[in-house]
Amino acid sequence: MRKGDAQEIRRLNRRAILGHLRRGPLTRADLSRLTGLAKSAVSRLVEELLQEGLLEEGAATSPPLGRPGTLLHLRPRARFALGAELGVEGTVLLALDWRGEVLWAREWRHPPEAGPKERLARLLEEALPQAKNALGLGFTLPGVVVEGRLLLAPNLGWQELDLNPLLGDFPLPVLAENDAKASALSEVFFHGEANLAYLVLSTGLGVGVVAEGRLLRGANGAAGEVGHWLGEEAKPCACGRRGCLETALGLGTLLEHHRALGGKAKDLEELMAQAAGGSPEAQKAMDHLGEALGRFLANLAVAYDPARVVVGGKAAELFPLLEGSLRRALEAHAFLPAHRVLPVQPSAYGHLAPAVGGASLFLARFFELGGLWAEGPRRNGGRYEEVAFGDGRGIGA
Ligand SMILES: [Zn+2]
Repeated sequence: MRKGDAQEIRRLNRRAILGHLRRGPLTRADLSRLTGLAKSAVSRLVEELLQEGLLEEGAATSPPLGRPGTLLHLRPRARFALGAELGVEGTVLLALDWRGEVLWAREWRHPPEAGPKERLARLLEEALPQAKNALGLGFTLPGVVVEGRLLLAPNLGWQELDLNPLLGDFPLPVLAENDAKASALSEVFFHGEANLAYLVLSTGLGVGVVAEGRLLRGANGAAGEVGHWLGEEAKPCACGRRGCLETALGLGTLLEHHRALGGKAKDLEELMAQAAGGSPEAQKAMDHLGEALGRFLANLAVAYDPARVVVGGKAAELFPLLEGSLRRALEAHAFLPAHRVLPVQPSAYGHLAPAVGGASLFLARFFELGGLWAEGPRRNGGRYEEVAFGDGRGIGA
């Protein structure tokens, strides 16, 4: 056996052990049974992982049959990554523990005219004191991102931007990704799903689609930019065209519609409070959006046929107010009976979801490398190599 082969086998075995422990505590004997590895090999690798501080020993078990064992689990906060969302309204920066816990998050606004250089400089300034020991920083943008290049982000007014020269001062590995795609990948990473649609709805609308276990990117990275699907309306869109879907479904339009109904709310938070408090105009505006989203989901179901839809972005926090009308519209307009009962749920991370998605880009790589981070990831011509997201089964699977 060549040396490289032995290293690769070690990585795969460590990856298998860490992967099983992500789903819950196990004994060495459980791990041997689940991985098919000899008990001696499991003990050796577990010892290595304990030494590195990745695992912890917990309570002893005494099964009715067989020998007692000690439960092993992933040590909380043993590793973490930074994640950020450069959104239209502001920036979110957070740290995500390798088990999915948000350790801290901070958010700031910026003047609307702030360009990429200024926004990334502020991100660097905020991230710098937290960067020590982080696996990397993954940040998301509301636009088409292909290998470190932002092709177009209409709602930011940015296009044809090579991000790499702007990232030279960051003292850790950095990756950029589209917000909906990063969110979809993190959902797969934490919960596992072979067919998933992740809807990011804030000012704009985008979808991250995982079909048969793979993230859809398309020939130009624009797959899922359904907010720019042309419809009947003739309202001008930030992309320069007229009638895009997000001019009807974007949350800016929700506020406009509320105003047209005679309502008064200075922002989304106020509108939410009014709707929750039973204001008829606010509830009507929410119902109108919920109905439009239900019809949109009926379309999404025939385009991609997901098993589950997750709603992220600002809309995740509106979801309880939209759910009733959304479900009624989906039931009324569904193509297949299965689409009528399509599971639709808000992201557990609420509006932090895109930044969580950014951080999970690095956590997924860490697990993929079996925790052998020092031996990767390698820069490949200025880019980090893309790795597969494990076996598609996550913690909750
Ligand atoms: Zn558009």
